[in-house]
Amino acid sequence: MEMRHATVNAPERWLAHHPENDVVLFFDPSRLQTTARRFLAGFPGLVSYAVKANPLPAVIDNLAAAGITAFDVASPAEIDLLRARLPAAVLHYNNPVRAARETDHAIRRGVRSFAVDDGAELEKLVARLPAGAEIAVRFKLSAPSAAAYDFASKFGASPEAAVALLARVAAAGFTPSLTFHPGTQCTDPQAHARHLAAAADIARKAGVRLARINVGGGFPAPRGEERPPLAPIFAALREGLAVHFPDTPPALLCEPGRALVAEAFTAAVRVRALRSDGAVFLADGIYGLFAELPLVGSLAPARAVDASGRPRRAPGRSARLFGPTCDSVDEWPDPVPVPEDLAEGDWLLFENMGAYSLPTVTRFNGYGDHALVTLMPPA
Ligand SMILES: *Cc1c(COP(=O)(O)O)cnc(C)c1O
Repeated sequence: MEMRHATVNAPERWLAHHPENDVVLFFDPSRLQTTARRFLAGFPGLVSYAVKANPLPAVIDNLAAAGITAFDVASPAEIDLLRARLPAAVLHYNNPVRAARETDHAIRRGVRSFAVDDGAELEKLVARLPAGAEIAVRFKLSAPSAAAYDFASKFGASPEAAVALLARVAAAGFTPSLTFHPGTQCTDPQAHARHLAAAADIARKAGVRLARINVGGGFPAPRGEERPPLAPIFAALREGLAVHFPDTPPALLCEPGRALVAEAFTAAVRVRALRSDGAVFLADGIYGLFAELPLVGSLAPARAVDASGRPRRAPGRSARLFGPTCDSVDEWPDPVPVPEDLAEGDWLLFENMGAYSLPTVTRFNGYGDHALVTLMPPA
């Protein structure tokens, strides 16, 4: 996708002058850098960016400019992307399942930190990794966290299995660590803290002194009216470390995807048609930038503007929103408010669209085309 640069700081002004577009994603680099600096200042450890949330080169470059030096990668392609942009970056390969040749590729490219949640996968690593490499055992707790969706159904060893895996990591001469992921968009500060308590217990039972705990991602981003704060989560982590590791605290690492990148993008989507039953058909939907909606719930537009960029201010009505394809799942999971005077050709603007939007866009039914515009403050 070609990136266009615009020296305006409001999407409305750009839209008014580019009528040929129907779906536009606006990137605000200064907002991305501000969020990154907030993480770097608040999190008590190393901040690594989970590349899968948004692998756009401009995102990687701006995070690096803000001071992010570490990246969580999950595939050879993500490793190559990072090595091409930032040859000196620290990479963590925390997808716990890898083909042997994927691991070999990572080793050749200088990756020295890996997550694992299974005995057979661990033996593949033990046979390949250079001595001293970090192996973080990924565990999960049975009680679900207050997350938008659960990350424990696919990955993570039970605490009992993690004890055995961690002991094997240490005995084989690798740097022993633990990791978990509380689930994405997790708003409960105690979820991370509960996992820290479990990590202390696992390490004690394994008789292993942990080098590091990777607390994963899952930090919540603003979503619609909700603006969950990060400070209570950072405080709970600081406190959990002091309580559960009073003598020799391991270093902390986090790998946020969503909470770093979501706020930096706004999506503008054209109204294609208004149906006589009041339903609104948009130029993008579940097969485009909005693939996450069935998992995390409807997102209401932040505002509506007409084709010349003027705000629609009429009182709201509740409407069903549909994407453009002929598939009936291409619908917002719940009705959302839109202004009464919304018309064909108008734009709906959705904020906080930077995470898990661009990478999963499909071409289904001939849709999926979008413009990518970088907002620059006027000089
Ligand atoms: C996806 C993923 C992340 C990022 O999760 P967010 O909820 O976007 O913060 C971090 N770590 C691992 C291992 C992941 O798979």
